[in-house]
Amino acid sequence: MVGTTHPGNIGAAARAMHNMSVSSLVLVEPKCPIGEIAYARASGASAILDNRRTTASLQEAVRECSLVIASSARIRSLPWPEVTPQQTAEKIRELDAQTRVALVFGREHSGLTNAELQLCHYMVNIPANPEFSSLNVAAAIQVLCYEIFKMNANPVEDRQAIARECAATSHEIEGYFRHLEQVLTTTQFLDTENPGLLMQRLRRLYQRLEMTRSEVNILRGILSSVEKYRSRSE
Ligand code: SAH
Repeated sequence: MVGTTHPGNIGAAARAMHNMSVSSLVLVEPKCPIGEIAYARASGASAILDNRRTTASLQEAVRECSLVIASSARIRSLPWPEVTPQQTAEKIRELDAQTRVALVFGREHSGLTNAELQLCHYMVNIPANPEFSSLNVAAAIQVLCYEIFKMNANPVEDRQAIARECAATSHEIEGYFRHLEQVLTTTQFLDTENPGLLMQRLRRLYQRLEMTRSEVNILRGILSSVEKYRSRSE
C-alpha cells in the first residue's frame, strides 16, 4: 500500500488479506500511525499488522519481486500492459513458490504516480460502474486477494514454474534500466535536453517481456560491450 492516509484502510486491508490467506503487507511511506484504529479494523488479522514491513519507496518495497502488478482505477497517458483480475491470479499461479510477487495499491486520493506505475510489469483494473469506478483501497485489495484465493483453491498440474524459475527481480531490472539510460545518453540516442517518453516506452517494452535473470545479464553484457568498444575507439 503506497502513501495510505487512513489507518482504517490499512486495518481493513489486513483483514481482507488474512481472510484470503495472503500474509505479507508492505506499507510504502504510510501517512498515518498504525494504532488503535487500524487494529480495530483488522479484527482477527492483527498478526498481519504486527508483521508489516515499512519502506521509504516503492522501489525498495518491490526490490526482490519478479512480478509486480499495479492496481489502478485510472486510464493513463501512456497506456501500460493491462491484465484482468482473473489474469492477475493466473500469472501468479504460473510462478513457483519461491518467486516473489507484489500487488501495488495507490493513495486514497491520487492513486499511484506514473513513476511508480513504471516499476510495475502490468496494471490491473477492477471493472466497475463507469460512473463510479474507484473502489475503496481495502475493497480493491479484497477483490484481488479473492481472485488469488480462488485460483489457489483450484491448483492445476501444468504449472509453468520451470519456465519462470530464474525470473529477474525488480532490483536487477532497475539496474538494467539505469545502465541502458547511461549508454543511450553516451551514444546520444537519448537527448537528455529533450528525452520525451523514450525511457518510459523502453521500460514498458522490457517489463512486458517478464525477463529471466540470464536474459537481463545478456542485455547488460551487450551494453558493456558498447561501452568497451567506445573506450577502445577513443
Ligand atoms: N482517485 C484515485 C483513486 C484511488 S483509489 C485515482 O485517481 O487513482 C485507491 C487505490 O485503490 C488505487 O490506487 C488502486 O490501487 C485501488 N483501486 C481503486 N479502484 C480500483 C479499480 N477499479 N481497479 C483497480 N484498482 C482500484
